[in-house]
Amino acid sequence: METLDIKGTFRWPSANVLSGRGFLCRLDAKALNYRHAFHAGNFADLVKHAALLELLARLGVSPGPLTVIDTHAGRGLYDLTGPEAQRSGEAEAGVGRLTAAADAPDVFDGLTQAVRALNPDGELRRYPGSPWLIARALRRGDRYLACELRADEHKALQAVLRAAPSAQALCADGFRTATERTPRDGRALVLIDPPFERADDYRRIVETAAAVLDRNPAAHLMVWLPLKDLATFDAFAGDFGEAVGPAQVFETRLRPLTDPMKMNGCALVLLGVPQGMAGVLEAVCGWTATTLGERGEARVYGV
Ligand code: SAM
Repeated sequence: METLDIKGTFRWPSANVLSGRGFLCRLDAKALNYRHAFHAGNFADLVKHAALLELLARLGVSPGPLTVIDTHAGRGLYDLTGPEAQRSGEAEAGVGRLTAAADAPDVFDGLTQAVRALNPDGELRRYPGSPWLIARALRRGDRYLACELRADEHKALQAVLRAAPSAQALCADGFRTATERTPRDGRALVLIDPPFERADDYRRIVETAAAVLDRNPAAHLMVWLPLKDLATFDAFAGDFGEAVGPAQVFETRLRPLTDPMKMNGCALVLLGVPQGMAGVLEAVCGWTATTLGERGEARVYGV
């Protein structure tokens, strides 16, 4: 396992690291095959991370501390020169094209600045995961719980968050952590980004979102989902609307959803979208679908 060294590239002002319950990592990791290193920096990460940074920036202008729970954090920082990224080529087709583009909307600026900060000599070697981006966006008084079940990914996550103030790298089930630890009062943002390698991920998203809203009706929620075929996503959207309540859906379709064996696009489901943000997210999906897709399109609607 390689651990990227971020020392000397970026430092947070103070250290406060707490590790989670290691035995959970070892037990559950047996069933987890997914490695985000194959996909880091692909079109779906660009959509998710540009939207996440926009949401954090908008929430950051309001007073009062924010608690962020990242249910599926991953390792926090990805090596684009490693065998996984090289084999898949997804980063080259995603962040490689974004950083070379002259026409990307301004909403991508936060992400491209983060990528430049990690790659100061201009060569694309590293890509930030959600923990790296969130930790960098937190203000004094904010809190961040990052959950990761795989032992190797959790170890790397701890290293990335070692110098981040108020960040906890938990080796814990993210669905359960959001259900049990979303603050009942105050401002909260829950990011749910599972690997979808287990059949019950869709059901657990709905249950977790409902539990989060039950604990804190003002919580903001962002869920990332793959778009393969319409039937699967429509069934999820129906269940979500019924159990959780009205939400906004932002779809990025790279191509028509005709081959269910392919990831044909991705969707973000958001609750508590700040005023004026929907149009900006539409620009993220629109640029990604038309520039990186084949006959791609963006769709925005409510459930
Ligand atoms: N959110 C990350 C980002 O944007 O950089 C990517 C996360 S990746 C899609 C999903 C991660 O969730 C994997 O590293 C996997 O090991 C982890 N995982 C799977 N099931 C989990 C669970 N129930 N709780 C916490 N982590 C889990």
